[in-house]
Amino acid sequence: MNTEIFKITDQNRKTAEAQKAIEKAGKILQNGGLAAFPTETVYGLGGDALNPESSRKIYAAKGRPSDNPLIVHICRWEDLSPIVKKIPETAKRLAEVFWPGPLTMILEKSDKVPKETTGGLSTVAVRMPDDETALSLIRAAGGYVAAPSANLSGRPSPTLAKYVQEDLGGRIEMILDGGQACIGLESTIVDLTEEVPVILRPGYITREMLSKVLGEVEVDRAILPEGSDAAPKAPGMKYRHYAPKAELTIIAGEEEAVVNRINELVREAEKRGLRSGVIATERTAARYSADSVKNAGNRDKEETAAKELYRILREFDGEEVDLIYSEAFTENGIGQAVMNRLLKAAGHRMEEVSSDGE
Ligand code: AMP
Ligand code: MG
Repeated sequence: MNTEIFKITDQNRKTAEAQKAIEKAGKILQNGGLAAFPTETVYGLGGDALNPESSRKIYAAKGRPSDNPLIVHICRWEDLSPIVKKIPETAKRLAEVFWPGPLTMILEKSDKVPKETTGGLSTVAVRMPDDETALSLIRAAGGYVAAPSANLSGRPSPTLAKYVQEDLGGRIEMILDGGQACIGLESTIVDLTEEVPVILRPGYITREMLSKVLGEVEVDRAILPEGSDAAPKAPGMKYRHYAPKAELTIIAGEEEAVVNRINELVREAEKRGLRSGVIATERTAARYSADSVKNAGNRDKEETAAKELYRILREFDGEEVDLIYSEAFTENGIGQAVMNRLLKAAGHRMEEVSSDGE
């Protein structure tokens, strides 16, 4: 299958050509085909959420286990009620503040949503993305687009259209290229089917932000560092996602100690004839002597690390390094989501160093 790629920028968005491309992608979805599109989090692999055959195709194209449910994307608040049993007050309040935006809500599903889309669950995940191209495409596709991240299962989520092409080129009909995804990590998932809302996946919308709107909010124990043995409530969180080809280790501690330890590990790797890479930040990047050093951005603005992390992991795959050492990020704000993805990519391999270098 030939995968057509169409670039949509702020400059050409209103042109007849761009509108035609979005209409075409919408038709593809309506006819049971697949098309990838940009969102503010990462690129999505879209299919008609109400068509069981489309969901089966999504699982096949990604090589994704079919017990891992898909998020249904909508473009208008009114479209929520037909696909859920009821809309809890909590969902209304969250939508007012965070939709369109990087927040996915889990609700009881109605009969309209096929089991294929929800991986057999009686609940459905719903999100309204904050991206004009995404919203137009959802409208053109009939209102309900199932869209997991547009990567092959087990690879980092794509933050650029070229990564979608790399993973899914030839397997899907079209890619709408909207440039770099501005957040770079998948949406926060909050389960609203329990008495107290529970965060199933951390993202740009933090627990603190949700608590301001809802009051008490819990975090699924399975996504906390101490709960890595517990079964996560979001089926997808149990898989080892985001795995780079090289062995990744996170080094945590004070800056000076971390830089020294990583350089020591890099020298050890070199002695063993192995190529190493480092995920550094602006202040430290020049201090590493690894084969490849990537700058994840400004430590005081961890959203820069969120935006660059998956690109960096993919670039390392292309460079064929054997070992990757990454500085740790904080557990504050978006830093928590960055650490959650980084820990998964590292298979939870993390070393803490103390400031006296021990
Ligand atoms: P992705 O589409 O790649 O961003 O992954 C979607 C995530 O949402 C996966 O971790 C799924 O397990 C999770 N998810 C989707 N639907 C549900 C649901 N009904 N209940 C719990 N988790 C869900
Ligand atoms: Mg994914």
